[in-house]
Amino acid sequence: MINLDHNSTTPTHPEVVRRMSEALLAGYANAASAHRPGRDARRCLEQTRRQIGQLVGARMTSQQPDEVVLTSGGTEANNLALFGLAGRPPGRILISAVEHPSVLEPAKQLAARGFEVCQIPVNSAGVVDMSACAQLLTRETRLVSVMLANNETGALQPVSELAVLCAERQVPFHTDAVQAVGKISVDFTALQVTALTLSAHKFHGPRGIGALILRSGMTLTPLMFGGHQQHALRPGTEPVELAIGLCCALELWHEEAATRRTRMTALRDYFEQLLRDANIGIIVNALHAQRLPHTSNIAFPGINCQALHMALDMAGIACSVGSACASGAATPSYVLQAMQLPPDIVDASIRFSLGTFTTRREIQDAAAQIVTIVRRLRVKTTGSP
Ligand code: PLP
Repeated sequence: MINLDHNSTTPTHPEVVRRMSEALLAGYANAASAHRPGRDARRCLEQTRRQIGQLVGARMTSQQPDEVVLTSGGTEANNLALFGLAGRPPGRILISAVEHPSVLEPAKQLAARGFEVCQIPVNSAGVVDMSACAQLLTRETRLVSVMLANNETGALQPVSELAVLCAERQVPFHTDAVQAVGKISVDFTALQVTALTLSAHKFHGPRGIGALILRSGMTLTPLMFGGHQQHALRPGTEPVELAIGLCCALELWHEEAATRRTRMTALRDYFEQLLRDANIGIIVNALHAQRLPHTSNIAFPGINCQALHMALDMAGIACSVGSACASGAATPSYVLQAMQLPPDIVDASIRFSLGTFTTRREIQDAAAQIVTIVRRLRVKTTGSP
């Protein structure tokens, strides 16, 4: 298979596997235990936690450090941010129209509990409308959540500007940075956000761990109860080995950030150029936004994305389409719909996402296969390629 679906998950980096294996074999005790092995595990965990915070630009050395709340992944961290920062109803919650379901669904739950939830619209490039946000930001607003980069289009959002707007009004601001961390530089302090979500498996770390980075002094209501770990903000025995894996993946990204970013941007652009040069009439969605270096959302007008997705799967190319609903079937992308793209373009769009280990050869092979399949499908539906 040629993997062009790295926004779903990424293969674990061999160095992460090695460091985690070492940690597992070391046999850490429960970091909450009061004996020496427990204290050793605690020391290792806290050092790892500090390093994770520092690598994403949190203040970890001051008297009152920012919090790094370890979670099971991005979904849990987003839930924790929304429920934990919203407080009690009534009040207004603002989210963008293109958030991941792990923000959209908690927001729906908050609406059911009595909050007024408003969606900030995006423009045709998939970027949040700043002036619409400023208008929606009223005295009643309790929380704003806007992602740093969109998972379907790769469009970067004006998070630091929005965070300043919220700070002026003393409204907590959360950003879901799941697709941004490990792809572009992310600095928690410079962004001036209140809370930030990250997830290890999106940047070659292990599945099953993520974090909510929380500015010091902020009140967060926990989602779960039954333990004192992590200041009772997220109780439960802490997974030392997974934290080591997360930290290692972040370190590797930092060591190679510029190279990885330049390489992935060049490969992404090459991929799009190969498809353009084939004259099959592609449209690159969110082209006029600043984008993540590795995400390419492409419409193939006249082609049904489900049929193309299936044909590509059979040809050995993994990519992604729409958003999976509960039955596993794909529904039209609400992200592309929010960009007001015509329905036929939404139905013809596919997401390709590259990884650190994607090669030029894979890009050439994938593009050649896509061109052949698109021409074949066009002949089938319209009689001409
Ligand atoms: N947020 C975004 C933008 C995502 O793309 C994803 C996963 O695709 C998540 C949150 C959920 O992260 P996790 O899979 O770690 O729960």
